[in-house]
Amino acid sequence: MLHSMDEKDMLLARKQDLFREIMALTDVLWGNVLERYTTCSRPNCRCHQGERHGPRFYLVTTEEGRQRQRYLPVRHASRIRKGAEQRRQLEAILQEITEINLALMKEEDKI
Ligand SMILES: [Zn+2]
Repeated sequence: MLHSMDEKDMLLARKQDLFREIMALTDVLWGNVLERYTTCSRPNCRCHQGERHGPRFYLVTTEEGRQRQRYLPVRHASRIRKGAEQRRQLEAILQEITEINLALMKEEDKI
């Protein structure tokens, strides 16, 4: 019983930490950030020797089952990459919170 309470307290404390981490993810972009490098139709352009044009950024989101793709200006490149990274962090945090919530259900069943 005592052991159970300790385990539960640890899980709850960890969950609080994770929610605090979420609060720092203020630049998150929820969706798929595509970073594209392309070749053009001019046959003598450098892009055909490996110096492709780009990056060009797009954010792909799903709204009510429909995909939506938006162009994002390259001047925001660092924020866009940060937003994509924060999306990965947020997903990992939500997965961990889910595991904690499942473990908490198990803990409560033990008592
Ligand atoms: Zn080109």
